[in-house]
Amino acid sequence: GESNGTGAADGISAVIPGWFSEMSPMWPGEAHSLKVEKILYQGKSEYQNVMVFESATYGKVLVLDGVIQVTERDECAYQEMITHLPLCSIQNPKKVLVIGGGDGGVLREVSRYSSIEQIDICEIDKMVVDVSKQFFPNLAVGFEDPRVNLHIGDGVAFLKVVPVGTYDAVIVDSSDPIGPAQELFEKPFFESVAKALRPGGVVCTQAESIWLHMHIIEDIVSNCRQVFKGSVKYAWTTVPTYPSGVIGFMLCSTDGPPVDFQNPVHLIDERDELNKTKGPLKFYNPEIHYASFCLPSFAKRVISSK
Ligand code: SAM
Repeated sequence: GESNGTGAADGISAVIPGWFSEMSPMWPGEAHSLKVEKILYQGKSEYQNVMVFESATYGKVLVLDGVIQVTERDECAYQEMITHLPLCSIQNPKKVLVIGGGDGGVLREVSRYSSIEQIDICEIDKMVVDVSKQFFPNLAVGFEDPRVNLHIGDGVAFLKVVPVGTYDAVIVDSSDPIGPAQELFEKPFFESVAKALRPGGVVCTQAESIWLHMHIIEDIVSNCRQVFKGSVKYAWTTVPTYPSGVIGFMLCSTDGPPVDFQNPVHLIDERDELNKTKGPLKFYNPEIHYASFCLPSFAKRVISSK
């Protein structure tokens, strides 16, 4: 290839024509790029810019305000972990609430559980739901489960009026804390989650990257230790198209029957009728569940000191 130090063959060109580069003050000095085959959709909702493109190697990609939310190829690593880490940690969940998650991927995973009777979802942006139904049928399939009740609105406001002790589990599948999701990372929000959970109920929230956001994670952990009187644990997974290639989850339980997050009490039975129609899990298994709570030393030091 070229060797004059300026060509794309050296990887030096910062923004390559025909490539999507993800830039944000949340990850200064780096930008992951994907080759674009075709832009399929560009819109602007009341809350954010919404874009869908076909990439060369990750399938279709959903982008909100310039930040990748989902790609067809690696979404399993995120949706399966954010869902099965909390739900395999308790017996027989019946009522589950999803905040955010407008693409439907988390719903698809929640509906693998035959014990569940009610799945509420509160997504702020209807455009995300509509775009997912149009371009991501393998995610939006989650909306087809008859147990699902879709609410379009702010998750913060929704939780404020939930009767005390309603849910067995709350899953917060949010975007980053810049924009409409900001409050989903703050203490008052965690307090209303704790109220909405039954004793010994569990929450799992998207909790950023140990490589990029240790300061945000520190705050989340210390808030959660004050609010949740049961277990408070951090787990992580690999998602190649998220900044730094990893993403974490904050798992907490309320006062009540103890929850040992690292050792799952429920196994997903892939022979179960509900699962057969969804196909096998691509990423999650009980070994990965256990391993996801093992932290690199630098992160372990900070998180356990909070
Ligand atoms: N499932 C995705 C993935 O695989 O990474 C995660 C991103 S999901 C699309 C994040 C969603 O949270 C977005 O659709 C966004 O509109 C929604 N959201 C942001 N703030 C919200 C709020 N305050 N209440 C409810 N939903 C919110």
